[in-house]
Amino acid sequence: MRLSQLFSQTLRSDPAEAEVESHRLLLRAGYIRQLAAGVFDLLPLARRSLNKIGTIVRQEMEAIGGQELTLPVVQPAELWQESGRWQRLGPELTRLQDRNGRQLVLGMTHEEVVADLARREIRSYRQLPLLVYQIQTKWRDEPRPRAGLIRTREFLMKDSYSLDADWEGLDRQYRAHYQAYQTIFRRCGLEASVVESDVGMMGGQLAHEFMFQSDIGEDLLLLCRQCGYAANREVARFRKPEPPPEAPLPLESVATPDCKTIAALANFLGLPQARTAKAVFLMARLVEEQGEGAAEGRATQPASSPAVGERAVGERLVFAIVRGDMEVNEVKLANALRAAELRPATEAEVRAAGAEPGYASPVGLRPAHQAALIVVDELLPRSPNLVAGANQPGYHLRNVNYGRDYSATIVADITSAGEGHPCPQCGAPLRAQRAVELGHIFK
Ligand SMILES: [Zn+2]
Repeated sequence: MRLSQLFSQTLRSDPAEAEVESHRLLLRAGYIRQLAAGVFDLLPLARRSLNKIGTIVRQEMEAIGGQELTLPVVQPAELWQESGRWQRLGPELTRLQDRNGRQLVLGMTHEEVVADLARREIRSYRQLPLLVYQIQTKWRDEPRPRAGLIRTREFLMKDSYSLDADWEGLDRQYRAHYQAYQTIFRRCGLEASVVESDVGMMGGQLAHEFMFQSDIGEDLLLLCRQCGYAANREVARFRKPEPPPEAPLPLESVATPDCKTIAALANFLGLPQARTAKAVFLMARLVEEQGEGAAEGRATQPASSPAVGERAVGERLVFAIVRGDMEVNEVKLANALRAAELRPATEAEVRAAGAEPGYASPVGLRPAHQAALIVVDELLPRSPNLVAGANQPGYHLRNVNYGRDYSATIVADITSAGEGHPCPQCGAPLRAQRAVELGHIFK
């Protein structure tokens, strides 16, 4: 075929909507056209490129024993209610009804469908291990599609599912994927960094992400040049300082007018921010864990009644406390709480728990009698004599000590690692780097 007959037209000038270089070039060269927010037409040149990438992916998946199948985009809601993700996921999961009022979802991933298929097809452990995969269209109603094909709502994904009779088999297939993904990215000419990551909505025990380092990426990695430690900021650890021991001093109230931020407070009192405690209020959507009996639920829950699952969902105020020089990491916090979702609390919600926005602290709030869950960073029990809010406008307390003056529902690592923090393995300063996610494996 002649180029003059190519369906796609190149563009002479830069399209106004292009935010990043890849988006600009794909539009100008006639690979893609946008149909709606986060929804793209893939024109012949893009389709040819995807076919080539698909060939590499298929070869490498088959080399580790994968068998290709194609699963439906439209799926019955019952499967998602049974797994609990119908209740846990927010509006990114698109729910719809057919003409008979039957609840359906648009597939954003296919664990439910694969599990259902496997329980119908696999009669004996002797049929295992198995590995099935597909290259198929997914839909996730992302709140902010951006940067051309970097974050879209409709997208093509290769997803594979390993089925094993025991943990050793799972370990073996996890390692096989780890290797296969590295081979795929190498053959595609992409330099991929492998990092520890959050298991997110997939759940499970272990996850690795394959990341392409680029400033247009939405993820932030923390990397150690010295020992090779690499993790997504969502889960990255760092070596926390060991505060020098001090005898606890008596509590003392101090007037701190207009000190609603940690910076203003530390400045006013002439103290380093490390000598203050910072309180952050969030509302957590908690979901009851599904027990072993959950599989029975499918037969007894009417398909048209999503409220059955949603009744298990409750919102609680969370009072997260970190040292003033650190930041709360919402992914770590959500994991510590087993929360499905966190959102900032309103001032009214904070006041309802007896705390004063801008001057809040856990002092005087007893967790057992409070509406709030108090989650304290692991560093605070070792940090004596901090300045914290007095729950009274314009006042703070000096010499606040964990254990004596307040306690927590949960003590956990809930702070974010950042540029220059000491590596958790070797202590060398970590480097922060933006990256685009290429692939993700979950155990
Ligand atoms: Zn290191």
